[in-house]
Amino acid sequence: METCLFCKIVKRELSAKIVYEDDDSVAFEDINPKAPIHILIVPRRHLATLLDASQSDDRLLGHLLLVANNVARQKGIAERGFRLVLNCNSEGGQVVFHLHLHLLGGQRLSWRPA
Ligand code: 5GP
Ligand code: ZN
Repeated sequence: METCLFCKIVKRELSAKIVYEDDDSVAFEDINPKAPIHILIVPRRHLATLLDASQSDDRLLGHLLLVANNVARQKGIAERGFRLVLNCNSEGGQVVFHLHLHLLGGQRLSWRPA
């Protein structure tokens, strides 16, 4: 999608600190980190929200979780622990409408989303 920020990062039209990529996904550092480690994991293909995924995307969605595993290990936070967040639509706090997982870690995280 031409105007999508994360599509631009995937296509290298916008710079980002990419930490992992493969045929289906790209992972890069969040520009405004909310934890010492804050990585965004996105599918290369544009899906605006989780609600736009369908049964045929089941492999892709599973893949994104496995990428999170890999990146958590790569960043040295796998054993200490980390959190995955997926915001969906307005009340979920989604601001960028290209499906993404937040991988957060590097300190003990609090838990009070509301
Ligand atoms: P959301 O609120 O949509 O779940 O998360 C969007 C995330 O994208 C935010 O954490 C925000 O800091 C990050 N972000 C927004 N614009 C950019 C950008 O241009 N580059 C990078 N690397 N991250 C961005
Ligand atoms: Zn996009």
